[in-house]
Amino acid sequence: MSFSPHLLKGQKALVTGASSGIGEAIARSLASAGASVAVNYHSEAEEAQKIVADIKAAGTEAIALGADVSKEDEVKAMFGQAIEEFGTIDILVNNAGLQKDSPLVDMTLDHWNLVIGINLTGQFLCAREAAKEFMRRGVQPHISSAAGKIICMSSVHEVIPWAGHVNYAASKGGINMMMRSIAQELAPHRIRVNSIAPGAIKTPINKSAWDTSEAEAKLLKLIPYGRVGEVEDIAKTAVWLASDDSDYVNGATLFVDGGMTLYPGFATGG
Ligand code: NAD
Repeated sequence: MSFSPHLLKGQKALVTGASSGIGEAIARSLASAGASVAVNYHSEAEEAQKIVADIKAAGTEAIALGADVSKEDEVKAMFGQAIEEFGTIDILVNNAGLQKDSPLVDMTLDHWNLVIGINLTGQFLCAREAAKEFMRRGVQPHISSAAGKIICMSSVHEVIPWAGHVNYAASKGGINMMMRSIAQELAPHRIRVNSIAPGAIKTPINKSAWDTSEAEAKLLKLIPYGRVGEVEDIAKTAVWLASDDSDYVNGATLFVDGGMTLYPGFATGG
């Protein structure tokens, strides 16, 4: 993937959960569009360092920052480090997330709290720290028309119920109202807040759903467009949402799902 290196020139981005999958692709893409990038990781320090080394080798500023996004003190320290290193932050990609699946009756409170804590509370904590910095600095017209951009990684499961995954679906449903409420609150400060809701994208989080031909064939029944998504599909959308090309887009959820939310079961009349 290549972008104009001028698209995000001079902008500073922080991507959470950027040591693999969608977050890694977004970090690499924002960098190739000219942004300095803080690559947040939780347990995969080596992977994060490798991504940082690649970005730097291509001539763009990058740092790796370890933090558990569900921990308030770690999130505050991470933003402190990023701002100290880069001077400010212009773009937050709230991407970190995980699944802990089980039928409702077997779901432990720990697994409920873990998923809500990382997928939803983690996005709140990071959005709050980013917003403080955007409001402190305000708009710098030579950098961007907006004082800051927040991109929340949601999922088609913010609207599609998902049996056996109630903690995950609830976290993504929560992101919908959190994102729109923050967008409403921060718009007068010229801060844009949007979500990307991916369908099925090939990453470690859902490997068992696409890594055999039988599994992939089953998955494709849910995707009218006839292919499983790639991380680049999401990264391109994130770069656009981070850039001034989307300057009038605020409080929106972009479904990037090959039509998964088009109720494919009804395609032949239901
Ligand atoms: P992934 O497992 O590769 O990425 C998740 C990342 O989050 C990992 O790098 C992981 O280390 C990080 N992470 C987990 N807990 C963390 C914590 N406490 N603090 C900081 N980082 C933490 O999977 P992915 O598919 O790239 O997922 C990225 C996001 O996209 C998630 O929010 C996921 O819900 C969302 N999503 C993915 C798909 C898909 O089909 N892959 C579909 C819809 C939504």
